[in-house]
Amino acid sequence: MLIKKDLIIVGAGPAGLAAAIEAKKKGIDDVLVLERELNAGGILNQCIHDGFGLIRFKEALTGPEYAKRFIDEAKSLNIEIITNVMVQDISSDKVVTTISPSGIKTYKASAIILAMGCRERTRGAICIPGTRPAGVFTAGVAQNLVNLKNIMVGKRVVILGSGDIGLIMARRLTFEGAKVLAVVEKLPYSSGLQRNITQCLDDFGIPLLLSHTVIKIEGHERVKSVTIAKVDEQGNPIRGTSKKFECDTLILSVGLIPENELSLNAGVHIDDITGGARVDENLQTSVPGIFACGNVLQVHDLVDYVSAEGELAARTAVDYINGSIKNKSDITVIAGNGIRYVLPQSISPNKDITFSMRVTSPYKNKTIIFKDGNRQIKKKTFKALNPAEMVRIDLKAQDLNDVRNLEVFIDE
Ligand SMILES: Cc1cc2nc3c(=O)[nH]c(=O)nc-3n(C[C@H](O)[C@H](O)[C@H](O)COP(=O)(O)OP(=O)(O)OC[C@H]3O[C@@H](n4cnc5c(N)ncnc54)[C@H](O)[C@@H]3O)c2cc1C
Repeated sequence: MLIKKDLIIVGAGPAGLAAAIEAKKKGIDDVLVLERELNAGGILNQCIHDGFGLIRFKEALTGPEYAKRFIDEAKSLNIEIITNVMVQDISSDKVVTTISPSGIKTYKASAIILAMGCRERTRGAICIPGTRPAGVFTAGVAQNLVNLKNIMVGKRVVILGSGDIGLIMARRLTFEGAKVLAVVEKLPYSSGLQRNITQCLDDFGIPLLLSHTVIKIEGHERVKSVTIAKVDEQGNPIRGTSKKFECDTLILSVGLIPENELSLNAGVHIDDITGGARVDENLQTSVPGIFACGNVLQVHDLVDYVSAEGELAARTAVDYINGSIKNKSDITVIAGNGIRYVLPQSISPNKDITFSMRVTSPYKNKTIIFKDGNRQIKKKTFKALNPAEMVRIDLKAQDLNDVRNLEVFIDE
């Protein structure tokens, strides 16, 4: 039996919760949020450090505190959130199949919002040579074990990758009594926020070794040592630069991958660079009526923008349900020199749009320019640009008056 719903949201993390609340406030009563974990809140439930909500609430909340504000509001609006249910499949005609302890169910939605978040890259994804002992964890798994299950992961730790989760775990494991020997980063710059480098490494005297990688893991039952080496500009280890750390744990913080298997089954086109859906300014994917937001769309560094994206997806999903999305977003947005990606990937003219993007490498005192052919539409100068920090630039409808092509690039 097909159960009909106006709006189904997959994932009850900050993106999904914000979307559900906004849709309900905009008059859609029949909203269903589906979550595979036992509790709503998403990855925030294991992020017990503070620093969430600085933009939205002007307060430094912990992850669970930030999530609770949304969970409470969803409850007060009587939004239906079903937890402990896994969405198994979404079809392009918006049939959603779920599995839970109470069995298999199928729903037919008028619109769907994808808010599944992302998962971490593992050792297999980066092919580190050596034996395969216990003691190799991704940073998120280590965070989950330490923060939610009270299980300590090791005593002497090396961390590979200087993304925010790795940096935060360097501090967390130090608090729990471990010795963090080093954070090793293959790139010549960190892929984490500067505030996390200061607060999580510098404040605890943990060295950050840039342009280095792990070239060997040793140990049988358990990790005994890892060997690191300097890398050249192509990322290849340089002979004669290796250094061995006696340790029992290697934590990997080597990137996040948007969880888009369901999106692919639904026929959603995925962007090769972001790993998320290609969307228009309504956050609508290539399948009409399916929208995407949060980390499943692009990996965010700040949760405040995740919530804002969830709200935008909800507003436009409501317009879709009410039949009032009329525009055809057929202007392609191109990421030019120095820009790794820009989102949305297609737009319609004459609308206010916030563009999000990441740069390819660190820059100082550079200008990001939006151009339509030879016509300069907007420019904005930044003292510093960092690949770890998402850049957001607003363009007004009048800026995008009759635009035909849009290229975004860094003026060298
Ligand atoms: C370790 C860590 C530290 C961070 N620190 C900060 C910080 O200090 N400040 C800050 O602002 N931001 C921080 N962030 C970033 C921010 O927390 C994330 O960007 C944000 O939580 C992502 O929200 P989301 O809703 O997109 O995804 P998630 O929170 O990952 O939620 C996705 C949800 O979808 C569910 N789901 C997935 N697939 C299915 C399925 N098939 N069926 C049912 N449910 C499904 C998942 O179980 C999950 O609950 C941090 C992130 C991490 C990982």
